[in-house]
Amino acid sequence: MKELIVATGNRGKFRELELLLQDAVGRLFSLADFPELAPVVEDGATFSENAVKKAKSAALATGKPVIADDSGLVVDALNGRPGVHSARFAGEECSDAENNVKLLRELAEVPAECRTAAFHCVIAFCLPDGTCLTFDGELKGIVMNAPRGSDGFGYDPLFLVPEYGRTLAELPLDVKNRISHRGKALAKLKTYLLGL
Ligand code: IMP
Repeated sequence: MKELIVATGNRGKFRELELLLQDAVGRLFSLADFPELAPVVEDGATFSENAVKKAKSAALATGKPVIADDSGLVVDALNGRPGVHSARFAGEECSDAENNVKLLRELAEVPAECRTAAFHCVIAFCLPDGTCLTFDGELKGIVMNAPRGSDGFGYDPLFLVPEYGRTLAELPLDVKNRISHRGKALAKLKTYLLGL
């Protein structure tokens, strides 16, 4: 594929994708290259709805293929919350630390064996004619009762990966990228793009 837009304003995410998709895409653009595009409100009920909404609106507006992702933490004992609200669980403009405090508080009475959770990621790939495909990834784990580790972001310090006996914030980034929800969804997307 010659050109692809990544519908993100996050430079870190863009660089990560640039590296990962370098042999599948000729030139990768970010939303910073299209300042005229209005931001999309992420008000979907599912990760897929939000990812498609972001990618489709940018594809229709620019006339180029676009990818966009949405991800978050789904906690069984909280009936799937925070889910699509993961970034703003503790309120608009809240920090990762505030989200983690709220998660610990809500799970305070929940025993270890019931603290199962999963990170989900959906990447949408949309064409300028409005057609879209989605690629998903999941990572299952357990929410700890105290943070561990200093790497990563978001809920990483609370998320234990049982196979490794470590939280995501304790695992090296290359391991996290290989096993993570985002890594798995990206691998599916890359296989698809290479086959085009
Ligand atoms: P977004 O898809 O980048 O908007 O991420 C939504 C929110 O989900 C983030 O702000 C984090 O709180 C959480 N999240 C998504 N992926 C991860 C991850 O790999 N580690 C920790 N938290 C994550």
